[in-house]
This record gives sequence, C-alpha cells and structure tokens, in this order.
Amino acid sequence: MTDDMLSWLREQIEHRVAVARAATQGSWKIGEPLPYSDPGGGISIDGDDDEVAGPGHSGGGVWKQEDAAHITFNDPRQVIADCEAALSLIKLHDDLHDCVTPTSSQVFPAGDKDEIPCPVLQRLAFSYRHRPGYRPEWAPEGATS
Ligand SMILES: [Zn+2]
Repeated sequence: MTDDMLSWLREQIEHRVAVARAATQGSWKIGEPLPYSDPGGGISIDGDDDEVAGPGHSGGGVWKQEDAAHITFNDPRQVIADCEAALSLIKLHDDLHDCVTPTSSQVFPAGDKDEIPCPVLQRLAFSYRHRPGYRPEWAPEGATS
C-alpha cells in the first residue's frame, strides 16, 4: 500500500477499471421481475449477450428493484467511463498548475509526494475514502464523510 495520495488514488482507479474490464461487458439491463414467492423469483441482471445474475434462488439475483437499478446504472461500461474520466483529470493535474477553489487560487506542484495535492485531486481521492488505505489527512477542507 502506498503512502502518497496521488499514487494511492491511481491504484484505486486502475484496480476499479481492471475489475470492470474483467466483468461481463455490454449494457446491463434489469430483467423481468419474477414473483418473490417463486423459488426462482427476484430480478435478473442481463448483459447484451449474457445473463449477469439470474433471478432469486437459482442464480443469486437481486431482490430489490432499487438494487437492480443501482447495479445496472453502474455497469462495467459506466465504471470504465468514470475511471477514464478520473484518470484524465489526474493527467490534467500532473504538472505544475493553478487550481482555483472558492476560497483561493494557488499554484500546486502535482507530483511532489511531500505536498498535499491540489483540492481537485483531494476531492477526487475523497470519492474513494471508503477504500482501504485512505488517510483522513488527505480529506479536502470542509469535507465530511
Ligand atoms: Zn489541480
């Protein structure tokens, strides 16, 4: 596990995108809900060509419509796009740059591992605060968990 926030953040995003790329690709959709009283009841999650999770007892499907909606909204295609956007934001902040917050405008030396990175990168890292290795001292000013 790494000590500097930017390296840790890249590791989290690269791991997340690798997990998403290994999963069933395509656009995930909510299958036809089956009655919960049925042993095979519940909600399936379907990829373009494959079933991702069968309904109920038979395939370990999803019971709540809201959970199915959450899963399909966060299908691998969406996660990969989110991760690519995050990595491109990090790339934009790789070099010495100005970053503006509501309270200040400052030049940040991104890449200097002894410095706390800019507020944009702090906020991006904060979105991964529930992952192992996140340090409270990396939290952006005013952040609450
Ligand atoms: Zn910045």
